[in-house]
Amino acid sequence: MSAQIIDGKAIAIEVRKQWKRRADQLKEQGILPGLAVIIVGDNPASRVYVQNKIKACHEVGLYSELHDLPGDISEEMLLAKIEDLNQNPSLHGILVQLPLPDHINVNKVLETISAKKDVDGFHLYNLGGLIAGNTVFPPCTPYGVQCLLEYSNIPIEGQNAVIVGRSNIVGKPMALMLLQKNATVSICTSKTRDLKQFTSLADILVVATGKVNLITADMVKPGAAVIDVGINRLESGKLVGDVDFEGVREVAGHITPVPGGVGPMTITMLIANTIMSAEQTIHPQ
Ligand code: NAP
Repeated sequence: MSAQIIDGKAIAIEVRKQWKRRADQLKEQGILPGLAVIIVGDNPASRVYVQNKIKACHEVGLYSELHDLPGDISEEMLLAKIEDLNQNPSLHGILVQLPLPDHINVNKVLETISAKKDVDGFHLYNLGGLIAGNTVFPPCTPYGVQCLLEYSNIPIEGQNAVIVGRSNIVGKPMALMLLQKNATVSICTSKTRDLKQFTSLADILVVATGKVNLITADMVKPGAAVIDVGINRLESGKLVGDVDFEGVREVAGHITPVPGGVGPMTITMLIANTIMSAEQTIHPQ
């Protein structure tokens, strides 16, 4: 039987409605949640992502401002700009679009963003909170995956979760979040011997590698929930994930499409984190 498709677009609309209600409540109390987005240079993909984030803020009624900085800006000036935004009380979230030009130390940049405004969840304070199980701002993509699983009524506790990919922005936080929800978690990397040995045990398989067709039907346990985080553009211009969607959908119980799966949730959780940050100005954690 063919897998149930997890419609990330539809779920994102529902989740945004809920967060919009929370934003509206804040506005009634005189607080307009605000997000600053910084882009450095003119990477075309980054530009599209940033525009989508600003547009999403607008749709949910948040305040947003875009800081479009030249690619040759010095690290010092970028850090000074972030310090400035840290002090601005009308901003509850600050996001620096990655990647940054090579002459800028990305870790320094992420550490300069106030942990209280770190709505992307990349500051060491928030990453450390993931280990302790009480992060303030979960990183948006894995947070979106968790939300998709919950909305689709896919149980997490006691399930075998296999994460393919160990990046700091997706794989590692995803593993910690599923562990916190009492899944039994394995993380696979490019160095894993016999990937199939692991993936075929997964009740929940999250794939975030950027490798087209890495996961094929023979690697998936019948009935598994397969979450494809990958975004790859083929020469034809078509967007695909890391999973052979047509093959795997015949085996899996649930599957996310690309596009229209995880992607819409990432921005949704950025909105959620920004509203949560604004709420914390009234009820600090
Ligand atoms: P990344 O930093 O490049 O990390 C890729 C990971 O995949 C690495 O840990 C790498 O292992 C692992 N890997 C590569 N080849 C592998 C193989 N053959 N078998 C097992 N593991 C393998 O990537 P990322 O930033 O996490 O992004 C991953 C994908 O997700 C990309 O396509 C990206 O565009 C997409 N993405 C989507 C969203 C969204 O909103 N939908 C958000 C973020 C990223 P090593 O560590 O051993 O090198």
